[in-house]
Amino acid sequence: MELVFATNNKHKIREISALLDDDFRILGLSDLNITEDIPEEAETLEENALYKARFVHERTGMNVFADDTGLEVSALDGAPGVYSARYAGEAKSFDDNIEKLLREMQAVNERSARFRTVIALILDGKEYLFEGMVEGEIIKERKGAGGFGYDPVFVAGGYDMTFAEIPLEEKNSISHRARAMRKLMAFLNDYNNQAK
Ligand code: IMP
Repeated sequence: MELVFATNNKHKIREISALLDDDFRILGLSDLNITEDIPEEAETLEENALYKARFVHERTGMNVFADDTGLEVSALDGAPGVYSARYAGEAKSFDDNIEKLLREMQAVNERSARFRTVIALILDGKEYLFEGMVEGEIIKERKGAGGFGYDPVFVAGGYDMTFAEIPLEEKNSISHRARAMRKLMAFLNDYNNQAK
């Protein structure tokens, strides 16, 4: 079965391809010559993921899935959430975003936060949503050089190192994205086996 992952991130495509049975072939947007940026302007992760999946489905008629992720900080009422990529502005600078987050949380003691990924799938004309989360907290200053985004200030529950300090394979096995991807993968593998 051919399935489009509505992303241009080759790393994400490789990650999910490795988790799926050989019966699946995952194509990225560049394989379909979709070069325009799909807007992410909705107010929830669910709507953004669905929008991206529908955008590709309407143009190609193909089965497709799309993801959207946000960092949700309890003391900030769930911010930056759906605005995580451009929290400090349209430049989408990881550094500026962290700077702003630490500033907003300077006087905050309750520092719990979670990463949440939503995946929207359109399969044989039906829509499905999958969610993955990792709970943790925001520390007061950056630690570690790995990862990306908010990784240097996020410590997952049960860990004493940030996502930027733990080995990448470990982050990729416990992360919000991995958890959502595993749910998607289990669903797709089941769906495919039932159709056999
Ligand atoms: P996207 O939906 O995967 O593009 O993620 C949106 C934004 O959330 C990114 O620009 C990052 O700021 C943040 N983000 C997503 N995943 C991670 C992660 O694994 N670590 C740190 N930040 C992340």
